[in-house]
Amino acid sequence: MQTLSHWIDNQAFTTAEPVLEDINPANGEILATVPLASQETVDKAVASAVKAQQHWAATPVHKRAQVMFNLRGLIRQHQDQLVELISLDNGKTLADARGELQRGLEVVEYACGAPELLKGEHSRLVASDIDSWSEFHALGVVLGITPFNFPAMVPLWMIPMALICGNAFILKPSEKVPLAAARLGELLAEAGLPAGVFNIVHGGRDTAEALIDHVDIKAVSFVGSTVAARAIYQRAAGAGKRVQALGGAKNHAVIMPDADLENAAATLIGAAFGGTGQRCMAISVAVCVGEDTADRLIQHLLPKMDELKLSADNNQQADMGPLIDQIAVNRVNTILGEAKEQGAHLVRDGRDYAMLPAKGCYVGPSLVDKVTDSMSCYQQEIFGPVLSLVRVNELDDAISLANAHMYGNGACIFTESGAAANRFSSRVEAGMVGVNVPLPVPMAFHSFGGWKQSLFGDLHAYGPDGVRFYTKRKTVTQRWLKQTGHSTAFGQL
Ligand code: NAD
Repeated sequence: MQTLSHWIDNQAFTTAEPVLEDINPANGEILATVPLASQETVDKAVASAVKAQQHWAATPVHKRAQVMFNLRGLIRQHQDQLVELISLDNGKTLADARGELQRGLEVVEYACGAPELLKGEHSRLVASDIDSWSEFHALGVVLGITPFNFPAMVPLWMIPMALICGNAFILKPSEKVPLAAARLGELLAEAGLPAGVFNIVHGGRDTAEALIDHVDIKAVSFVGSTVAARAIYQRAAGAGKRVQALGGAKNHAVIMPDADLENAAATLIGAAFGGTGQRCMAISVAVCVGEDTADRLIQHLLPKMDELKLSADNNQQADMGPLIDQIAVNRVNTILGEAKEQGAHLVRDGRDYAMLPAKGCYVGPSLVDKVTDSMSCYQQEIFGPVLSLVRVNELDDAISLANAHMYGNGACIFTESGAAANRFSSRVEAGMVGVNVPLPVPMAFHSFGGWKQSLFGDLHAYGPDGVRFYTKRKTVTQRWLKQTGHSTAFGQL
């Protein structure tokens, strides 16, 4: 068992604060104790970041980028260890953890282009003898608060982008999965990042709030549940800070009657049950259009579902791991019970899964048919291995259904019709849309974010929006007297 410390000034900062236990959800063993930062620790981490930031912002941009190149090499060199930490802490399979790290690494690679990304904009001769340009300045010290379901990827959505823009960054990782983030702190130091530019403060909600409220924190990036996203947005924006707060999701996949159902079923299995359904881009609702589409889809889904294997005790020859904790297991089981009471048909009930491991936080995969929009399993983000099927008559019914939901993170359609795909992608109210692609997670050179209650704020995470979020624009308009001696009176512009 590890005794975790905060990470301040490129070294462990150990305190005598109260601790939480970080539990391996696959077997209930304690992996680490996690300190819950006091106000004093928060103040120390922020002061260290304030001190380091000005010098870092004045460091030439290609030198800031060099740290990202170094980090990229170190993450690749230590990827097996990072993957193992992600998997142990979160419970996801090694393959899933490897995929997560890869997506995070892609943001580091994007950030290596910092000199290009931060070039600014220039206009010659906006008036006689006058040039004007916009440059992008660092905000100062910025904060990231991250969720349990992506212990490395979500921190890596934020850290590289904030750092290349000249900010110092404080990370408050999920108290449930702090191990990979702690290792990233060590790797950043090894990559040459000056002390204080990246600090980690551990803790839960109280610590997060103390950080948000700190006068020297200029911006907050948050990823987590909608309840917390809304609260953080209100709290930080109310104090005049810049905020991007990404929340929960209920991603709909529309299955048209002409879809290649074998392909749709194969990809839905990964999208609904991969990561044990604990992904903000998981497909949790399949909306089947037409009379018999749902029945035909079920025939394709069931053999694949019945082959899914749960990992036991971090045995990684499996398709699904545990849920994060017993609270999550209880939530999923309760919602399955309610679905049955409310009239849905449980084609597969994960509570009855025959081979549930004896220890750990497990639920089997569930398929719930004949779900309607009034049922709790439709309205709530279940965040577990449950795929709900809703039956509708027309494409427009499916679009209206998805648009009426409070969340709008991602949505996708399976069809052979370009016209249907176009109608869907132009009308559906979601930030990320897939056509015959179940998890339309944007690449690092685009940006990630949802609509409606899946995002509070305006700019999305990473990519071009990341650069805009972590910088403030300054536009300079400049005139120099010509040698010929023209007047400088503004009336002559
Ligand atoms: P959570 O909201 O419980 O916690 C996330 C982080 O916020 C943790 O670090 C936690 O300590 C902190 N926190 C919790 N409540 C807070 C509050 N009121 N004020 C300040 N900080 C607070 O989320 P979780 O359970 O760790 O993660 C799962 C949720 O995250 C799901 O809803 C999922 O959809 C969402 N998620 C969204 C995205 C996205 O891109 N939209 C990505 C990943 C996860």
